[in-house]
Amino acid sequence: MDRIKLGLVGIGKIARDQHLPALAASQDFELAATASRHGRVDGIDGYGTIAELVSARPDISAVSLCTPPDGRFEQAMAAIAAGRHVMLEKPPAATVSEAEALAQAAREAGVTLFATWHSREAAEVDAARDWLVDRRIDAVRIRWMENIRQWHPGQDWILAAGGFGVFDPGINALSIATRMLPQPLTVLSATMDVPSNRACPIAAAVTFRSGAAQVDAKFDFLQTGEQTWHIEVDTDAGMLRLTQGGGWLELPDGTVLSGSDQEYPRLYRDFARLVRNGESDVDLRPIQLVADAFLVADRRVVEAFEF
Ligand code: NAP
Repeated sequence: MDRIKLGLVGIGKIARDQHLPALAASQDFELAATASRHGRVDGIDGYGTIAELVSARPDISAVSLCTPPDGRFEQAMAAIAAGRHVMLEKPPAATVSEAEALAQAAREAGVTLFATWHSREAAEVDAARDWLVDRRIDAVRIRWMENIRQWHPGQDWILAAGGFGVFDPGINALSIATRMLPQPLTVLSATMDVPSNRACPIAAAVTFRSGAAQVDAKFDFLQTGEQTWHIEVDTDAGMLRLTQGGGWLELPDGTVLSGSDQEYPRLYRDFARLVRNGESDVDLRPIQLVADAFLVADRRVVEAFEF
């Protein structure tokens, strides 16, 4: 089967770290061009904007957007209006209403929209969900704590309005929790620490409910030392621990499962399947939970932050 020609938009950290290697190994896609104001990929046609890309390259039927969430709506709309299939990095847009409007526009245009959640593709998330499906869940603890200076050096957009702050990584935990826990999550309360010179939180604590269980989540962008991306679930059959962002699973009987990292190859396989089946996949629960947390949050102004 012919590979689908794809345009990659926003050549920054995640495009280089994950999308380019996944595309280089893909049986489904051929990287045909890029669109980025500054970033270029050696040997690949580069355009400055997505509008230039779609108008110059009618042969490119799919685009994958790796820009920050604020501004992605206009880019995705331009691609949909030009009849192209669209894959979105997480979070799918800056707001829930933008993401819903994209889903409607894609439906009306008859193109695929794929709002990706890469952490759901971590090796042991499905095994954790399968183990939990018949269990009584008593309590859940989410700890998503990383060093912004190590993982997002110089990315001022992340702490600007529309950048999600600590929920940029934190939404990954919520994408896993919404996939893994049998009952829907709702937000009970939240506190957010916002640096005096920034718009978005650098740390947050959120309490959710899932069925009868309380879900206690802590997100921190100032974690030095051990970097922590884990979820613990207390059940009637003991505690499940999902660590390393979903890559490592410990069950109460001592079983340990850890597969290799295939997150982005799996996302591109899923995108190809959606395109070929004429389907979309737009699950907005993680971004809805973040939006709800912002609605109820108690905000504290904390010390200014510089990279
Ligand atoms: P990044 O390194 O800042 O790259 C984003 C690129 O988008 C920039 O290099 C820039 O390229 C372009 N861009 C377009 N408009 C921009 C604007 N207003 N401000 C800044 N850059 C703009 O960011 P990233 O870490 O790759 O993150 C991009 C998306 O991927 C985010 O939604 C993030 O949540 C997601 N993601 C990131 C990671 C990670 O570890 N970093 C992991 C998974 C997912 P030009 O200047 O050439 O236009």
